[in-house]
Formats: sequence, structure tokens, C-alpha cells
Amino acid sequence: MSLVIVGSVAYDGVTTPAGKVDRMLGGACTYIALSASYFTPASIVGVVGEDFAQQDVDLLASRGIGLEGLERVPGKTFFWAGVYSADMNDRETLATDLNVFATFDPKLPAAYKEQPYLMLGNIQPALQRSVREQMPSLRLVGGDTMNFWINDFRSELLETLKGWNFLLINDSEAKLLSGESNLKKAAARIRELGPKILVIKRGEFGATLFHDGGYFSVPGYLLDSLKDPTGAGDCFAGGFIGYLASRGVDVNAPAGELARAVVYGSVMGSFCCEEFGVDRFRTLTRDDIEARFQEFQKLTAF
Ligand code: AMP
Repeated sequence: MSLVIVGSVAYDGVTTPAGKVDRMLGGACTYIALSASYFTPASIVGVVGEDFAQQDVDLLASRGIGLEGLERVPGKTFFWAGVYSADMNDRETLATDLNVFATFDPKLPAAYKEQPYLMLGNIQPALQRSVREQMPSLRLVGGDTMNFWINDFRSELLETLKGWNFLLINDSEAKLLSGESNLKKAAARIRELGPKILVIKRGEFGATLFHDGGYFSVPGYLLDSLKDPTGAGDCFAGGFIGYLASRGVDVNAPAGELARAVVYGSVMGSFCCEEFGVDRFRTLTRDDIEARFQEFQKLTAF
């Protein structure tokens, strides 16, 4: 079963207490695709400029990621820079140079349109909706959003969410979107907006899944050394939807499959933080993933 991923492909400059990298491969779509590629065939839709390096194309290709939908246009690739707080729970954005991403108009290659799984990265809600409408055979569709769209594009976002089966969102965004400060009430309200499967991410404290059968919480994985949290949420998303796609499920997925998807999401998010940027994916193996999945099983069993 094949997964289509739409979102930013970028260069990032990141400063954390563990170091500084001025320019490296990033972007939500990149992280989601690298993570999902361990579970299911994945293809991306994105845009880059003339400066996008062949070695970065090669990394994506080495994971078998379909690149037919990665458009290259005149100009520079989207650049984002940020600096993290001492505990890495907060970050300040230093630069958002949209460059070619400013006029991103996702174009789906014909072969993508019949695919059954779609993960919409954090882009303008109207664009997310236009992609979703081009894919009539979807088995499971959902995505991510952020406070900017919730605040400034609320009506577009609400229209878009009506067509989603799942939403991944962090706890502060869930409260902002729902107007509820109690997480359980926030989840109930958001699920009424469309996405019946809701994952509320809580940073280093883990994540909670809400679905028709109730809720399921997974703790955060305690890392010995955390280098760079950039992309952790996207890698979570990649593990979550990648696993569900590999199981061939739809919105009626059994609770056990949804719970395992949340654990795989947590596993992939934790690996992402171990190195700067996408570096962990240069060496990560499926065996590493299974070993950490089993650790999660142990640390949540009693
Ligand atoms: P995360 O840490 O999971 O929020 O993901 C960070 C990634 O999102 C970085 O690689 C950035 O390139 C990308 N990013 C940052 N700002 C934006 C934006 N406004 N739109 C799309 N992607 C972004």
C-alpha cells in the first residue's frame, strides 16, 4: 500500500545546546517521508529550488522514496532557522525564508492520484484540501497543522478538517483549536470537526490517541542524549501513518493497530532527536526500530 506525503522540503539552520548546524536538509515532508519509508512505500509532493543538492536527492532515493512529485523550479529552496531553549522544549524561529515554497501549488503526478494513503504536512489548509480532492480512492487521510493556520485561517482549516480521518496536533494547538483547556474535552470537540482519529502530542511527555473506543496514552522515551528535536513531530507522523498504511487499514482500524501506530510514531520521533537534522536516518535500521518498539512494550507493561 502506498503513501503520498505533501509538505515542505527545506534547508534548516538549527542551534541547540548540543551544537549548531548552519544549513542541512529539513522540511516536514522530508522528515515524514524518511520516517514512513521504514514501513511502507512512500512518495512525496513538494517543491525545491535550483540549490537543492544532489546528495539530498540521493538520500531520499536511497530510502526508496518516490520523487516524481518533487518539483524543481527556478529560485532558492525554503529555508528555516531556529534556536532551542536549554531544555529543548521551546524554540524560537530566527528565519522563515519561503523562497520557492511561497508559491507552492502541489501537483500530483497521475500515478499518485489512485494511492490509498495521504499524509498532509503542515501547509496552508486550502492547499491541503485541494490535494485531498484530487485523490478519490483514499482509504485513510489526515495531517498536521499549526497555530498560524488555527489563528489566521480558521474557517479554511475547519473546512479542510471535515475531509480528514486523522489529525496529529500538539497539546497547545489542540487547546487553541478547540477553545477547551481540558485535554479530554478538547479532543471530543476536535473529533466532532472531522478527524475521528486524533493524536495529541505532548513533546517529551509522550502522546495520547483519541478514537471511538476511548483513549490510549504512550509515555515519552527517555533518551541518553538529545541533540536536535527538529522534525520529531513529523517523524512521529511518518511512523504513525507509515505503520497504518503497512497494515492496509482504514478509518475503522482496530484499537490495537492504532495503539501500535502511536508507539511506532513515538519510536521514530525519539530516533529523530538523537542526531542533527535527518542524520539518524543515514544509519537507522528496521531492527533498531523493532528493538525500541519492544522497549516501549516493556516500559508500559505492568
Ligand atoms: P517540527 O520540528 O516537527 O515542527 O518540524 C520542523 C520542520 O518544519 C523543519 O525541518 C522546517 O524546515 C519545517 N518548517 C518550519 N516552518 C515551516 C513552515 N512555516 N511551513 C512548513 N514547514 C516548516
